[in-house]
Amino acid sequence: MADLHGEIRAAIEARCGLARAASDGPWTVHGMSIRGFTHLNHSDCLVVRHTWPQEAAHIVANDPVTVLRHCQEDLRVLERHQQATLGGAPLASHEECRCVAPWPCPEVLSLARRYGIEENDHG
Ligand SMILES: [Zn+2]
Repeated sequence: MADLHGEIRAAIEARCGLARAASDGPWTVHGMSIRGFTHLNHSDCLVVRHTWPQEAAHIVANDPVTVLRHCQEDLRVLERHQQATLGGAPLASHEECRCVAPWPCPEVLSLARRYGIEENDHG
């Protein structure tokens, strides 16, 4: 059985990595363009031109700072929702989350869906 918790964590961390590698922002809309700032010297380096206003607004609403904030919260949720163990080993009836719901609990399943991970791939 694949490790659902580990796969979710890897997906969150991969998304964090993409956000950290991008110009951190803030990103702003300027007419039909998007501008961002690099974290290296905070100069205006990112310019995406010729976007539709609704696309520009969507991209800016999902800038790296926002994505990192979402990922950090997702990691906190994932930390609270782990398969119950005893002394580091899964319980004999290890089909339970720390939140006492059956494993995988609704919070873990929600995170899996957010990152495009199918529960059926995990037994
Ligand atoms: Zn849980």
